[in-house]
Amino acid sequence: MNPSTEPGDGASTDLAPPPRAFLRTLLQPHRHWLHLAWLAGAGAGLATVALAAAVAWSIHLALFGQGAAPAWPWLGAAVLAVLLRHGLQALRDWSGQQLAFAVRADLRQRLIATASRLGPVHLAHRGHSGSWASRYQEQVDALAGYYARYLPALGLTIAVPALLLAAAFSQDWVAGLLLLLSAPLIPVFMALIGMGSEQIHQAQQERQNRLAGHFLDRIRALDLLRRSLALEAAQRDVAEAADGYRRLSMRVLRVAFLSSAVMEFFSAVAIGLVAIYVGFALLGFLEFGPAGELTLFSGLFVLLLAPEYFQPLRQFAQSYHDRAGAIAVGAELSPLLQPPPDTGHPGAALRPASDPTLLRLHNVTVRYEPEIQPALCGVDLDISRGEQTAVVGPSGSGKSTLLALCAGFVQADSGSVAIGADARPFAWIGQRVHLFHGSLRENLLLGAPAHTPDPELRAAMAAAGLRPDDPTLPHGLDTPIGEDSRGLSGGQAQRVAFARALLSGSRLWLLDEPTSALDPQTEDDLLTRLLAHARAREITVLVATHHESVYRRLGRIVRLAEGRLQGDSHV
Ligand code: ADP
Ligand code: MG
Repeated sequence: MNPSTEPGDGASTDLAPPPRAFLRTLLQPHRHWLHLAWLAGAGAGLATVALAAAVAWSIHLALFGQGAAPAWPWLGAAVLAVLLRHGLQALRDWSGQQLAFAVRADLRQRLIATASRLGPVHLAHRGHSGSWASRYQEQVDALAGYYARYLPALGLTIAVPALLLAAAFSQDWVAGLLLLLSAPLIPVFMALIGMGSEQIHQAQQERQNRLAGHFLDRIRALDLLRRSLALEAAQRDVAEAADGYRRLSMRVLRVAFLSSAVMEFFSAVAIGLVAIYVGFALLGFLEFGPAGELTLFSGLFVLLLAPEYFQPLRQFAQSYHDRAGAIAVGAELSPLLQPPPDTGHPGAALRPASDPTLLRLHNVTVRYEPEIQPALCGVDLDISRGEQTAVVGPSGSGKSTLLALCAGFVQADSGSVAIGADARPFAWIGQRVHLFHGSLRENLLLGAPAHTPDPELRAAMAAAGLRPDDPTLPHGLDTPIGEDSRGLSGGQAQRVAFARALLSGSRLWLLDEPTSALDPQTEDDLLTRLLAHARAREITVLVATHHESVYRRLGRIVRLAEGRLQGDSHV
């Protein structure tokens, strides 16, 4: 989905920073962890040099020492260097993890803030809840490797080899030169392979998505396939698709193995060259340059450094694929998280609670998208406190938009909206009630003051028509409710929503086709209770509906057609 074509919050790809800049802004507040990781990594590099020197020198002393200088203090130094090196490497990894934790926590907070800012109307148009869950979970987690491994490795790929190279040059410039010349080969070959692998990776991702859809389609049509005796063909189909995916996955693996093989090959060749050089120099076969003066110490020292020299490059290569994943995530999340441009249009003004008018809309226009017809157009409407109003009109006439405007879920593009200070919080009951996995008590307490005592909860249930001896609520308030109201009928879920509205103490109830999914009997019972309770408490009620059975119960009927007010009658 292309976010720039989506309505409402003004998020747009042209305003959003490119993925890499986005990843950098996420890093900004937590840079110190990255700096610590780099310092620790550089320290570990120094410890490696010290370790190689201590080991080489103790061996040198043990073989050629003239008794006066025993080798064991140097062995002790080597042990210390090992400990130091491991400690610093652990510190580097740990700071990388801390960085990744901090960035992900931040990003999750921003996602939640964005979702709440968008509100349910715009949110529903930015992908279903599943895609938000995936953004929140998997996509954010996909950034971990980038911050925990890639960025620390990126800073160290040049610094640590440079350090080791300097150490090698200090002992023997020929060995240093051998290492220096072999290093650039590796990134060149890795880049060549990397370019190809990115394409294969992408193809694999696509194929994976398609395979999932392919399979799902056939599962959905299973009944039909069975009846039309096409089951076998479908089976073959799925098997073929899966086999295609398998082959592509093997190609991805081949490329991955190839790239690590290339890496190992070139580092092995370079280390071998250094070893040959050192060996022949020590044997006295080489006459040129510094070879004649090479001692056992400097030869061993250089030889021990050689494998370490390639280690940061190796780590960088391993974490390189983290970068591609992070950039893909950045490209998706960056436009989503942009603050909305300032439309210069203030939100709803607040009216004092003493004013008998709770809601006043003046010449209000609401547009979801610039090019298409507004959802509401030039609407004038006053609603008094305690009034019960039906908003009627055919589907698409703007009823839900009017309610969303009163709720603050959408903003007016022009005109003015003024709303009583006591209209917050409001209660919203829609066609589908959102109940969550948990006990009935937990579901009722959403939106109610914390520590509302059980008797009050039971009273609200009774008011909503949920009897305590209801066989589907065997454990009363402790009855578990499944995800998405599972275990309750539509009518019961709607009654729970009503009880919630009562408990919330809201002075404004916004009901968007609250009974359109219920049978007439349940609808009748629920509406009778609901409206009687609202009347008794002087709660203002707005009901969007196109059912006469609903709107003939209300004192006032506001008619909408294509976003315009068509009639306003008091019964
Ligand atoms: P009703 O509730 O009367 O069916 P709505 O208020 O839902 O009407 O819709 C009014 C118009 O606004 C319709 O044309 C609908 O397609 C459009 N609309 C509603 N919500 C959105 C949205 N989130 N994004 C874009 N267009 C929307
Ligand atoms: Mg609607």
